[in-house]
This record gives sequence, C-alpha cells and structure tokens, in this order.
Amino acid sequence: MIDLRSDTLTTPTDKMRAAMARAEVGDDVYGEDPTVARLEERVAGLFGHEAALFTPTGSMANVLAVRSLVQAGQEVLCEASAHIARAELGAHGAYTGLTMRTWIHRRGQVDLPTIQTLFAPDMGPFFVPTAAISVENTHNFAGGAVLPLQDLRDLREFATGAGARVHMDGARIWNAHVATGTPLAEYGAVADVLAVCLSKGLGAPVGSLMVGSRDAIAEARIWRKRMGGGMRQVGILAAAGLHALDHHVERLADDHAHARLLAEACGVDPATVDTNIVVVQRSDAADFVAAARAEGVLVATVGPTAVRLVTHLDVSDADAERAAAVLARVAG
Ligand SMILES: *Cc1c(COP(=O)(O)O)cnc(C)c1O
Repeated sequence: MIDLRSDTLTTPTDKMRAAMARAEVGDDVYGEDPTVARLEERVAGLFGHEAALFTPTGSMANVLAVRSLVQAGQEVLCEASAHIARAELGAHGAYTGLTMRTWIHRRGQVDLPTIQTLFAPDMGPFFVPTAAISVENTHNFAGGAVLPLQDLRDLREFATGAGARVHMDGARIWNAHVATGTPLAEYGAVADVLAVCLSKGLGAPVGSLMVGSRDAIAEARIWRKRMGGGMRQVGILAAAGLHALDHHVERLADDHAHARLLAEACGVDPATVDTNIVVVQRSDAADFVAAARAEGVLVATVGPTAVRLVTHLDVSDADAERAAAVLARVAG
C-alpha cells in the first residue's frame, strides 16, 4: 500500500532509531535532559527567537503559544479553516477561555483589509477585545498553501502599530521554507510566537515546539506541566527531532515534486500545488477513495466532494510514479 492519507503516517527510519537509541537523557521536568535542551536551543535559533519548548503534540504547542498572547475573555482572529479553529477540539476555548472570530479565504491567506475590519482591541464594555491574530503556514485545509512573506510582513506591521500580537501555526513551516527558499528566521521575525511540528513531513514519531521569548516560554513550561505535558527522559524523542532537522528538511523538495506529479495525474493544475498536499475536487469522493484503495493507494476524503493526497518521507520516487499511474486511471 502507498499511504497518501497524511504526512503524519511516516515511521522513523533506521538511522533515526539509531540516533534515538544513542540519545543522552535526563529528567526534563527537572530541566536535566541535555538532548531536549539542544533541540529547544537549536529550534529557537533557527527562528531567531530567544527560547523554545518541546511538546508532545502540535496542538499542545498551539494552545500554549496562543494562550501566551490571549487571556480568557479575549479573542484571537484566524482564518475560518485554521487548524486552531477546526481541528483541536475546541482546546483554546476549553483550556484558555478565549473566543475566535474568523475571516474566510479559500487558500487560507492573510486578508488584511478584512482583518482590519474585524480587529477591535477596545470598543467599550460590551465587546470582546482582540488580543492576537493567528496565521497558518503552510495552510493545511487550504491544501498546503504557502503564505507569502510580504503578506506576513504587512500583517506584522499592522499588528505592531495596532498593539496586537501574531501567532503562527507553523506545523509545516519547513515545507514553506523549502518551497520558497525563505529563511526560517524571516518567518520567525513576523510572529511573536510560533508552533512547529517535527512529526509531519520531517518524519519524527512525536514532537512539536513552541517558539517565543524567554518569558513566554518560561510561563508555557508551567502551563505544559499543568496540562499534563511534563515529560521525563524525553531526549529519546528530541533526538529524533534533531536527526530530522539534520537530514529531512531539504528533502521536502522531493515531496513537493511528488505532489505536483500526483496533481497532474488527478487533473489538478500542478501550478496550484505549493507544497506536499493536493486537494482534488470530486463529486464521487468516497468512490474515488475506494477505487484507489483497491489498487493499493490510500487517500482520504476531506469533505463529501474533496479528496486529499499528502506526500511524505515514506513515499519514494517509484511510489509516487506508481501512485500517479493508479490515480490517473481512477480519475478517468
Ligand atoms: C498537524 C497540525 C497541527 C498539530 O497537530 P497534532 O496532531 O496535535 O500534532 C497543528 N496545526 C496544523 C496546521 C497541523 O496540520
């Protein structure tokens, strides 16, 4: 089976497992795991921020990151299909007590005029104050779309002038970096706080990080423990992340080429595929998925008329070509 349902489905390579087995570890709740410390320092440095915090999931990194900017009773603005709004089971409301208002963009992009219309930091005693704006790069449900750096800079400039802060859900920021050549630090510079995942295209079995100021990370460390996310000899997992940063970033370009190949096979314009996710509009989405499965290719529906294909570390050149042949046949 060639599994294109998600880039979370990768399994650690033998070399990654060897790196995990060698990892020097300690009790990270005591701040004594040297491998976790190395990972946190390295990722903070990549984004030009002071500090970072290792978390079990991207969802927890997002909850910690957003709550560092937004208090209970305040709001965060985000795009309507953002992961923080749709795919975290209401965690930001349930844990932080914040509310959200959203703008809609088919490609998950920054719509600054609409954001400016929604933005309301202080409208008197009845209105929820806007504390932050969240963006997702790349945008998952918009099919891995990249947010252009200039749009992010314009948003940042508006936010700074207006006294609001910016969160970036960078679960797949690595894909945006490789697709555009934009240095990670440039993405870091347009956000107060970021969440980044090691467990998607980078191929680590577990792990994400919140990235931000020393103070925000110190507070998030307490909240992580409060939420049950204090982990012990977790250098074993951080080592997988360090290995992924060394060996699995530049190769994301292969995933992007594979995605364009699959898009073409399914009748989607490859020029609309920014990174490693292809969304195919099909009125027969469920039948399409079943027909592909019967020929050894796993894909998933993301709605009654949409099929999603995601390329990743465990899809070789030969796999991509075989999957393209199957999908072209199934797509008719
Ligand atoms: C996967 C993902 C996350 C985090 O997901 P977890 O499964 O909690 O690690 C956050 N944001 C986006 C856009 C994602 O795709």
